[in-house]
Amino acid sequence: MGAIAQQRRVSKTRKLKRRTHYKITAPGMVVCSNCGELKLNHRVCPTCGFYDGKLVKEIKVEEPKEEESK
Ligand SMILES: [Zn+2]
Repeated sequence: MGAIAQQRRVSKTRKLKRRTHYKITAPGMVVCSNCGELKLNHRVCPTCGFYDGKLVKEIKVEEPKEEESK
């Protein structure tokens, strides 16, 4: 059938504003509902170990080693 005709010319402003208002975070990244940190969607939060509102994995908090000065 007929060729696809251009419907409307995109204005200079609109062209420049393209993709400025989304993809602020990486794809598949969501804000953790527990701690508010960015985490991968459908993954256990690496920061707090929560997934779907439940504590799935306990995150070990590494204590900074104090070096003894002699
Ligand atoms: Zn979290």
